[in-house]
Amino acid sequence: MVQRLTAKLEKLGLEWAEKAPLAPYTSSRIGGPAQVLVRVFSEAQWLRLLPVLWDLQASFWVLGGGSNVLIADAGVPGLVVHNRYRAWRWLQQGDEALLWVASGTGLSVLARQTVEQGYAGLEWAVGIPGTVGGAVVGNAGAFGGDMAGVLVEVDLWHRERGRETWSPADLEMGYRTTRLKQGEPAVVLAAVLRLYRGDPEALRRRVAEYQQRRRRTQPPGASVGSMFKNPPGDYAGRLIDAAGLKGTRIGDVEISPLHANFFINHGQGTAYQVWRLMRLAQERVARQFGVWLEPEIQLVGAWPPEQVQALMVPDARSVRP
Ligand SMILES: Cc1cc2nc3c(=O)[nH]c(=O)nc-3n(C[C@H](O)[C@H](O)[C@H](O)COP(=O)(O)OP(=O)(O)OC[C@H]3O[C@@H](n4cnc5c(N)ncnc54)[C@H](O)[C@@H]3O)c2cc1C
Repeated sequence: MVQRLTAKLEKLGLEWAEKAPLAPYTSSRIGGPAQVLVRVFSEAQWLRLLPVLWDLQASFWVLGGGSNVLIADAGVPGLVVHNRYRAWRWLQQGDEALLWVASGTGLSVLARQTVEQGYAGLEWAVGIPGTVGGAVVGNAGAFGGDMAGVLVEVDLWHRERGRETWSPADLEMGYRTTRLKQGEPAVVLAAVLRLYRGDPEALRRRVAEYQQRRRRTQPPGASVGSMFKNPPGDYAGRLIDAAGLKGTRIGDVEISPLHANFFINHGQGTAYQVWRLMRLAQERVARQFGVWLEPEIQLVGAWPPEQVQALMVPDARSVRP
């Protein structure tokens, strides 16, 4: 299968490599190699690649900015498609503006540029790593804003139905989740966002204030950001801290002493070390407070199924009903 696949990639004129390290493309700098890694830089390349993958019935995984995933130490079998399709343009400007953006565009850079041009709507996104595609999939958000609040529609390629336009309602966007994050087999190609004209000076001030809050509360260093979703009415970081786990270290990975929902890779950290710390946090918090911490990040690649199960499925014995 891999040989048939790489022969096709060659024919399509795409840039690809076998046994390609993925850690450098993640914000945690953790994870094993992709069996095959291909880079896609344009819509034309996506539209050439996708039908071929569908025909071959090849399973593949899309990597955006790698800032919300924990890739297994054993890597990712099969094909990883690295989305480098970056572009954006105004469809309409005025008091109400429409922005078209390719899915591989960096969210934070886009947000900064729209603020600089005097448009409100993405101030919350300055400082969030990753791509617009990843932000749509996870309904990224901060400081009361999120993708659901600005998204008009997405242009995607669905495994069974081909190219479609989906509304936010079709995506079923919830707190850090969508149908795509729940496993709907589709690739986000582009999105249309609605922004509003604002006072550039006021927008800049708001961004500066958010950034200051980030710097004060979020630790620097390699991480995937928030490990767990905040449970209703509480904060994952507060609970992990109250369970006495701030500063706990396994190997090269540490639960940050500054913010307990951030796990920092000090250099040679492994995915298994992160997994062990996540389990420790889940078990302690469940035992002490009866609260299940649901991972915000996704486990990707060759994880033993029982490790995925342990992290993703609440343990009924330890959590209060
Ligand atoms: C320091 C730090 C701070 C952070 N702060 C925040 C925050 O304030 N708020 C917040 O919500 N998140 C935050 N995050 C998490 C992360 O940045 C966001 O979730 C981000 O939107 C993920 O985008 P990505 O491109 O990195 O996705 P990836 O991690 O590459 O992928 C995430 C998932 O989306 C899928 N995917 C990616 N692109 C596509 C596509 N085009 N089509 C289909 N599927 C796709 C992947 O297959 C994967 O399943 C933070 C992370 C870090 C490291």
